[in-house]
Amino acid sequence: MNRPDPTESETSLIIERARTTALIESMSARLAAVIEATADAASDDEHDPEGTTLAVERGQLVAQLERSRVRLDEIDAALERVGRGSYGRCETCGTVIDPERLEVLPAARQCVRCAARNPSRRW
Ligand SMILES: [Zn+2]
Repeated sequence: MNRPDPTESETSLIIERARTTALIESMSARLAAVIEATADAASDDEHDPEGTTLAVERGQLVAQLERSRVRLDEIDAALERVGRGSYGRCETCGTVIDPERLEVLPAARQCVRCAARNPSRRW
């Protein structure tokens, strides 16, 4: 591997990536169990109230998984920026992102000011 030693940011991104991957795996396993239980509940009794609870949990898991996958993409994109040497700079205005912000959000693409101007983008 012809790469420089991992920087502190890269290390925290890698840790964050591992945590997110583990979370996705456990949620996927839980989702599979919920889907199985839903199928069982449906075959046992169509009007089983448990079926509703399971449907709600299923919906929540799907949403959480979606968010975690987006997060994983953001982390991968951030790791790519580390490789290119553009990590830690705001994608919008080019200023250096506050290290404290990067500590909380290692995959942040924007500085606090630009992020505040685009409230729809959490990163
Ligand atoms: Zn900015």
